[in-house]
Amino acid sequence: MDLSALTVESTRTAVAERVLNPVALAEEFYKKIEADDPQIGAYLTLCKDRAMKKAAAVQAAADKGDALPPLAGVPVAIKDVMTIAGVQATAGSKILKGWIAPYTATVVQRLEDAGAIVLGKTNCDEFAMGSSNENSGYFPVHNPRDLSRVPGGSSGGSAAAVAANLCVAALGSDTGGSIRQPAAFCGVVGLLPTYGRVSRYGLIAFASSLDHIGPITKTVKDAAILLRYIAGRDKCDSTSADVPVTDYEAEIGKPAKGLRLGVPKEYFGEGLDTEVSTAVETAIQKLAQAGCEIVPISLPHTEYAVPTYYIIATAEASANLARFDGVRYGHRSSSAHTLSEMYRRSRDEGFGAEVKRRIMLGTYALSAGYYDAYYRKAQQVRTLLTRDFENAFQQVDAIVTPTTPTPAFKLGEKVDDPVSMYLADIYTVTADLVGVPGISVPCGISKEGLPIGLQILGGHFDEATVLRIAHVYEHETGTGR
Ligand code: GLN
Repeated sequence: MDLSALTVESTRTAVAERVLNPVALAEEFYKKIEADDPQIGAYLTLCKDRAMKKAAAVQAAADKGDALPPLAGVPVAIKDVMTIAGVQATAGSKILKGWIAPYTATVVQRLEDAGAIVLGKTNCDEFAMGSSNENSGYFPVHNPRDLSRVPGGSSGGSAAAVAANLCVAALGSDTGGSIRQPAAFCGVVGLLPTYGRVSRYGLIAFASSLDHIGPITKTVKDAAILLRYIAGRDKCDSTSADVPVTDYEAEIGKPAKGLRLGVPKEYFGEGLDTEVSTAVETAIQKLAQAGCEIVPISLPHTEYAVPTYYIIATAEASANLARFDGVRYGHRSSSAHTLSEMYRRSRDEGFGAEVKRRIMLGTYALSAGYYDAYYRKAQQVRTLLTRDFENAFQQVDAIVTPTTPTPAFKLGEKVDDPVSMYLADIYTVTADLVGVPGISVPCGISKEGLPIGLQILGGHFDEATVLRIAHVYEHETGTGR
């Protein structure tokens, strides 16, 4: 069976029409994972018995002639920062090795209620902190397009699993770019929904005012389909918004003619690789040919986004990660003699270097005497960034930019230089700070054969426009399926 040809759309149709047997399909995926994943490292945990039982239940319903749920039999992968009751959840960290989640994340529950089959949990940077997946506490992920390169991070396992056809679609999380940047590096589609659009109940928190969950897929339509099922108010997450869920799939059929697209000059300056800028400019021309009006705009506070992000994200992380103390979850040091020694040693043995760096940075930014200079200042700048976007959305319907300044870099290239690693997020962090939705769609291949991503950002809760433009682009260029 050619698994590369399968999308969410085609799989659900084939299952519904009884052309595809979900049990046989899941078996095929596990065979492929067994054959290919040792080179890629996309999965941390497979839940085969559980998946085969769910697939058998879908098959039994199909055999009986029952009407099937909308994602019946679609094999998906879940980033290991989301919980599934009875399945290990590590967040890519040694500190959670062996921790079995007692409850299921709402997003997973919703996909499973819609009939999707979870194949396993995907590798990621530890606690989603990273841009290359090299911060995984277990093993790095290799980019399926070039195994010597990183897949991006922190949802690198999810993006690589989709790109390597080790699942049909996946969920990732995005706090500062972690869905869109790996999607761009691996040549797949990654959607960041509006803050509050998708419940985070069951997401292991990194930075609560920035954390988002969203789909990583092969096509824009697949992202639209999955968003529809995972989005919406959840009584278990008070930050989930009570805003009606649109039928995104129906919306993307609309033409893009007459939509105004803002091109911010700050996203095309220093540090942008020429091949990336050429590919993105060509993509913008294509959208103009499809009837979009191109409007030059300015987002004047852009240069402050990365430092602002790294203060707010680390501050929130230092608070969120305080709960990993050896008492309630995961690793407990066996060599401690007192309670405080047990806390210290458990954390020292369980956390990796980048997580420790972030906890220290965040604790510093929140400490008395530095709070005003760093944390409060960062919150003020966040407001300025939000105003930049509010002003822009008075003139335009969406904003188009590169997703990343360069294509995927080599494994090991940036590990000793955290600041250069942080700069890989330069075009993605702002959307998280402002809370607006965004997508990355493939828009070309570099001379070295590496994928390039086009980012489209929209107004709050306007995922429909973002998806619609991305879909038109895919259609215009024949990159969709
Ligand atoms: N690369 C960014 C970081 O390291 C973003 C991570 C994310 O979005 N989870 O914090």
